[in-house]
Amino acid sequence: MWSKRRRRSRARPVRTGSGFTGFSEAGDGHPYAGLRAVLATKHDKLPLLASPLRKAVGLEVFAAEVDTDLLGTFTPERKRRHSPLEAAIAKARMGMAETGEAIGIASEGSIGPDPDLPLLMSDREVVVLVDDLHGIVIQAWAQSFHVVAESGAFRPGDDMDDFLARAGFPDHKLIVMPNRTGRRLRVVKGVGEPDVLRAAIAEFSGLSRDSLARVESDLRANANPTRRAVIAEAAEALARRVATRCPTCMAPGWGEGQRWVVHRCVRCGALEPRAEATWCCVACQATEMQKSPEPPNPLCHACSQAELTA
Ligand SMILES: [Zn+2]
Ligand SMILES: [Zn+2]
Repeated sequence: MWSKRRRRSRARPVRTGSGFTGFSEAGDGHPYAGLRAVLATKHDKLPLLASPLRKAVGLEVFAAEVDTDLLGTFTPERKRRHSPLEAAIAKARMGMAETGEAIGIASEGSIGPDPDLPLLMSDREVVVLVDDLHGIVIQAWAQSFHVVAESGAFRPGDDMDDFLARAGFPDHKLIVMPNRTGRRLRVVKGVGEPDVLRAAIAEFSGLSRDSLARVESDLRANANPTRRAVIAEAAEALARRVATRCPTCMAPGWGEGQRWVVHRCVRCGALEPRAEATWCCVACQATEMQKSPEPPNPLCHACSQAELTA
């Protein structure tokens, strides 16, 4: 079944003996053992991703310097146009195109007010493995509410001690820019020295209409140790998932996913789509229900709301 899913690739397909083996044999070791994968990164993520994947399945990850900022940055000069997952896959493909490797890895972070808990700052990191040998994409996530992401506006000479303590300066680097300007935005990044910070505030407050310089946490992975820890956690999750194989087709990447099911309300009979947490394969149709701690709501959304307000 797996051989049909093989896509054309510049790299040599995995062959043993007479032909392509797919993932049908469990006893021969992991299909990625001894293979190479390219990590597209501009911000020094190799130490975070290489070791978990080598330990878990023997995949050798090396870094390719790719200008991943073309896909969007945390600073306002280039807004991201893709979803985080799409951006991570596009980054991985940039590294693959650059090096001709058939397996690529990349990560992408989203830092901001949490979509479900908007009062909290959250950092959600997605890590993907794109495998063109077999035509699969394996993804894993990690999330933290403890990432350092501060911002403030200052004049030269302002007392910044509290802000700098909250911002974890100088371990966590800062970016500085004019607070309000009609002109093209200028930003200095990776500020980790008090003298450089003072000079940047003096320069950029002078360029701002309100005479303030905007100072924010530098959110790039190489400048923000708390974010780095979340990427490391996502890398561990990816390694676990890559090591876990589908019980049906033996492809790597068996892990959490969701599927849509149609639910009929027991009161009004309305049909409503619902996402169900499952274990699923990234290659075949195999899924397995996850045991939910609570029974599903027998009522549709409208009936549940009516119940609450009654
Ligand atoms: Zn109903
Ligand atoms: Zn499968």
